[in-house]
Order: sequence, then C-alpha cells, then structure tokens
Amino acid sequence: MEFENARDVLTQLLNRRFMHTVLSREINLQRRPDALGFGLLLLDLDHFKQINDHHGHAVGDVVLKKAANLISNAIRPSDFAFRYGGEEVLIVLVEVEPSMTKEIAEKIRKHIAQHQFSLPEDKRLRPTTSIGCAHAKGKYDYQMVINEADKALYQAKHLGRNRVFMSAT
Ligand code: GH3
Ligand code: MG
Ligand code: MG
Repeated sequence: MEFENARDVLTQLLNRRFMHTVLSREINLQRRPDALGFGLLLLDLDHFKQINDHHGHAVGDVVLKKAANLISNAIRPSDFAFRYGGEEVLIVLVEVEPSMTKEIAEKIRKHIAQHQFSLPEDKRLRPTTSIGCAHAKGKYDYQMVINEADKALYQAKHLGRNRVFMSAT
C-alpha cells in the first residue's frame, strides 16, 4: 500500500529508493532454512538509443511505458519491479527456485519480443530486451547479487541481445 505513491511517473514501476528496504527484507527472509531464496533480474532494453534516434524521444517514452506494463503483468503481485536506470528494470522474484528465476525471465523476454508496439502515426516496432539473472539463497549481501545479475546482463548483451543469461554462482 505504501508503495502506491512511490511509483515512477512514466513507467509506474517502483522508485529505486525503495530497493534497499525490499532487498534487505528479502535477504533476511532467505536465511530461513525452509526458504527457497529469491530471484533477481536486471533487464535492459536493446538498442534503445536507436529507437530514440530514429523515432524521437516521445516514441521512446511510449515504448518504455508499454515494456514496463508488460513486465508488471508478467510477474506476481508479490514480486517487485523497480525502475533501476533510464531503460533498465530491476525485478525481485520472491520465494522462487533458481530454475523458476530463469523461466520467469524467459517469459518476460518473450512477452516483450512478441508484442507489437503500436506507436503514433501508425508506426510499429518490435523492441527486444536482454536480461541478466541471479538467484539468492545463502547470500547475505544484496549488492553482490545485483553485481552478479549485472555481469549476467553484460553476457546476455555480449552474446547477441534478446536473451536471458543466468549467473552460474
Ligand atoms: P544496449 O542494447 O547496449 O542496451 O544499447 P542501448 O542503446 O539501449 O544503450 P545505451 O545505454 O547506449 O542507451 C540507453 C538510452 O536510453 C539512452 C537514453 O537516452 C535512453 N533513455 C534513458 N531513459 C529514457 C527515458 O526515460 N525516455 C527515453 N525516451 N529514453 C531514455
Ligand atoms: Mg542501459
Ligand atoms: Mg539498453
């Protein structure tokens, strides 16, 4: 409830200033022996600068807003999606197995890749995303989990974009 006034105006995603509260809580919860742990996804829109350059910043905004909407609809109400940077989203999947972390990331990637974005002046675009994943169980520093997901995202980009890469650790 208290998050409702805390959303980013453009994307309606959670503001990143609440990341610390959420991730600290999840780090504590996964200490319980029966906890599954949580999944952390870092998602970045592919070649977004080109979309802005070719179609204008306003169209970029429409794409960003719609992509955020697709992400929000692909996760459970108990999960969290933060606007992490300009066109980057940090997603926290609470209480999931490592295999589910990758599965949900793949589902989000597909939802966006398969969506035909309708834009002003009858323009159509099919933007893609790259997603780096990490799973946290037995990890006590959330910044390290973010760093892991960030490295995985770098791999996803490096391997050609429009893909999910899961950190091995
Ligand atoms: P890559 O596939 O490597 O991620 O390429 P990229 O072009 O997406 O990466 P880069 O980081 O070079 O560009 C991100 C762009 O996102 C640059 C910036 O102008 C744009 N951007 C960031 N925030 C917003 C926003 O709120 N609206 C719009 N329209 N553009 C934004
Ligand atoms: Mg980026
Ligand atoms: Mg990008």
